[in-house]
Amino acid sequence: MLKKVIAIDQGTTSSRAVLFDEKSNLLDFEQKEFKQYFPNDGWVEHDPEEIWKSVFDVTDKLIKKHSLKPSDIAGIGITNQRETTVVWDKKSGKAIYPAIVWQDRRTSELCDGLRKETGIEQKIQQKTGLLVDPYFSATKLAWILDNVTGARKKAENGELAFGTIDSFLVWRLTQGRQHKTDATNASRTMLFNIDSHCWDDELLDFLKIPKKILPEVCDSVHDFGDTSLFGGNLKIGGIAGDQQSALIGQCCFNPGEAKSTYGTGCFLLLNTGDKRISSENRLLSTIAYRLDGKTTYGLEGSIFVAGSAIQWLRDELNFFESAGDTEEIISHRNVKSKVLVVPAFTGLGAPHWDPDSRGSIFGLTRDTSIADLTAATLESIAFQTKDLIGAMENDGANFSELRVDGGMVANNWFSQQLANILNIDVLRPKVIETTALGASYLASMKAGLCPNIESLNSSWVSEKTFCSEAKETKILQEKYQIWLSAVERTKGLY
Ligand code: ADP
Repeated sequence: MLKKVIAIDQGTTSSRAVLFDEKSNLLDFEQKEFKQYFPNDGWVEHDPEEIWKSVFDVTDKLIKKHSLKPSDIAGIGITNQRETTVVWDKKSGKAIYPAIVWQDRRTSELCDGLRKETGIEQKIQQKTGLLVDPYFSATKLAWILDNVTGARKKAENGELAFGTIDSFLVWRLTQGRQHKTDATNASRTMLFNIDSHCWDDELLDFLKIPKKILPEVCDSVHDFGDTSLFGGNLKIGGIAGDQQSALIGQCCFNPGEAKSTYGTGCFLLLNTGDKRISSENRLLSTIAYRLDGKTTYGLEGSIFVAGSAIQWLRDELNFFESAGDTEEIISHRNVKSKVLVVPAFTGLGAPHWDPDSRGSIFGLTRDTSIADLTAATLESIAFQTKDLIGAMENDGANFSELRVDGGMVANNWFSQQLANILNIDVLRPKVIETTALGASYLASMKAGLCPNIESLNSSWVSEKTFCSEAKETKILQEKYQIWLSAVERTKGLY
């Protein structure tokens, strides 16, 4: 039997194990959702045991379903929800507090306090490439150490381990033998210096985090250890955070190549090569991947609300039954409608970063219809993408095309609007499971199934290319100017 690769894709709402053949063709997957906990306003938690159980179960089920022997499997790759923070006891392996999820805002005040300290915000941006925000792991970890009885002392004694979800899974898979993470995940903690490639002593001192608690930071392709939980030894050969893994799955290996993922939210990541761009426009510099000690950097912007705006139209406004109905509905829109939706349900992300703004609708007329509002909501995601691309261009980036993936890009009208408003080609790949694919590529490299990253380029195939249509582009550019005013008017209202 030819060798297979398993990608473990540990996401925010579900865990998946995806089976690929030696040529990275997707063969099958298993998926399991787990519970979301909202114990307080703005708090979001996961139960690390439920995460672990879901990962173990889907992997075990997939292996059994295909009667795979350990010798049939070349390796395991892991991709994961980023920034989510777990602290566990090294002896028992049990978490001392639930996982604090990336969406959790409980450390807002701590971050406000940090911003007030002179020079710290600039220092954090310069060292880590990130902005001071509760989104990242550092203040979540500090919160656990401050709020769980005895945690700080135990951490100082070396009894506790911190990890993002990848580290926690590696610890569990290797039964406590390995405490490791990869550079992409480390770069989202707000503790990792992305120039010197070390945990930053100054930031650790500042947040009173003992270094002993942190994992070893490794390349994205690395021997992360073996797991013997599935009937024999399987190597964990690759790790990357979900957005970086999607960048790899989209084969954006050259500077200037970018991907945008449209799921619940939207994440645009641009490969900036061996040069780190320090954003002047409130975008994040991050590690795209690290191979053989060589770092490739990325510039990242995120939109908090993308597909979730379509869910809002479906579930709260009852406009349609399924997100897939939107294309047909839009065909009934009034093409002259100037209605604009700003879906700032949870504030605005990059490049606006206004956590307090809330959504608004402009330009309603007596004949505004469900079709007009649906079209305007989809357009708003395209306009936000233009905001991001504009910010990246102001930082010196140059776009010739954008590779897209995620649930929303199944919508042809939306993908076409993206091309029209951005005025570049929008490419939808044949394999849209790019996140898991990226992790499988990393594991394949470790297993020697492909010699290097360049050799993967030929595996990327476009399913459809959306080219900008001159007439539509002109109309949308005019509407975009109104969008910019609408965003300004939305900011600072609440
Ligand atoms: P996630 O990984 O964040 O759960 P997915 O990549 O599975 O998200 O995408 C699901 C999102 O895409 C949902 O929010 C849904 O509303 C949206 N979506 C799915 N199909 C369509 C469609 N045809 N048109 C517009 N939005 C869609």
